Amino acid sequence: MERPDFTQFSGNIVLWGAGKIGSVVAHVLKQKGITALAFVDINERKQDTVYCGLPIISPESFLKNYSNAHLIITTVGRDDVVEWLKTNHFSRYYDAWSLLLEFDFGDYSEQNQMYMVRMIDRYFRTILRCYKINPKYVAERLKSIITSKCSLRCKECIMAMPFLKSSRHISCDEVILDIKTVLDAIGHFDDLELLGGEPFLHPELDKIIAGLHNESRVNTICIATNGTLLPTPESIEAMKRDSRILIRVSNYGSISQKCAELEELLNKNSISCEIKNFKNWYKRPLFGKTDENDVALTKKFMACMNGCGPLIWDGKIFLCACPWVFIETAQPIEANDSFLDLRNADISSSELKQSIYDYINRTNTGKFITACRYCSGSPNSDFANEIPAAKQFKE
Ligand code: SF4
Ligand code: SF4
Repeated sequence: MERPDFTQFSGNIVLWGAGKIGSVVAHVLKQKGITALAFVDINERKQDTVYCGLPIISPESFLKNYSNAHLIITTVGRDDVVEWLKTNHFSRYYDAWSLLLEFDFGDYSEQNQMYMVRMIDRYFRTILRCYKINPKYVAERLKSIITSKCSLRCKECIMAMPFLKSSRHISCDEVILDIKTVLDAIGHFDDLELLGGEPFLHPELDKIIAGLHNESRVNTICIATNGTLLPTPESIEAMKRDSRILIRVSNYGSISQKCAELEELLNKNSISCEIKNFKNWYKRPLFGKTDENDVALTKKFMACMNGCGPLIWDGKIFLCACPWVFIETAQPIEANDSFLDLRNADISSSELKQSIYDYINRTNTGKFITACRYCSGSPNSDFANEIPAAKQFKE
């Protein structure tokens, strides 16, 4: 793959995509003493504002005023940008991946660093897909919902937790069994995320952590919490024994009332934590039958699958949260591919492994799930789709 020397274009570079990856690329260019002129972004609400010290312009303005510039694409919507550029006969465009390989977080402060590492991972997965290069593993990230009980009741919960027919914890043994079943099929995950609801409500969280201690096929074990609770002393002890543990705290301001105390507790015990301050979320997908054709459905599915990773819940693996929500909130749709049964005793273990591999690999091949026909897809992360984070039912 081409690794252009961007120094030769200094003073004549435009970046397409005034988002998170764009902020990193602008930072790398600055570190290297390379001057960029502007960002292009299709979002009209971003246009005519300034981002990372650069003006944001429209695609039309780019063609009109910067037709001799060199363009670096800094968005995971890369294929759409390339299509637009080709239609408009612009050929001096490049991908940003080589700049991201050299990124030094030293003085970067636009976004939380660990969060950005995940974003960059996702960007690389998109690039591999665009270049038709098979990644080493079919997915980097695996999520396991260990409980559907939560300490908050968010109106816009993506997992619809407040709307479930009933809430429950998944037993420690079942959580471990299901994770190992998926690992046997896939081989390795960079990131295993234990989710809820609120995982700190799970009475066996310490045992789950201990049960994963000898599982060497994951690099990082993240526990996602909403900052309303502290873990039990037993869980703290279990976390201390595993340096791969990372507590990912979503801080929703005043309702995440234990956030500061939690951070102090984790720091005191040398347990890694990543705090992300959320003022806004993005809208949930809308549910309702669509009449999109297979090409549109494939595109929508792949946009949603952008490195987010499959989801385990109670012996089933899902490719995204929507079919899970359909089932758990009793909105059944006619689909035999909403999930895969991880505890299917009717097939051999090698058949089960292959079927898990094939199912997860749909996130690379673009074989969309039937649920996509009933769903608007994950909205773009632009201002128009922003909603206040974690609004509670009682507010
Ligand atoms: S904290 Fe809110 S968004 Fe998260 S699981 Fe609980 S109800 Fe859902
Ligand atoms: S379109 Fe909906 S169901 Fe399909 S992958 Fe995206 S979020 Fe999931």
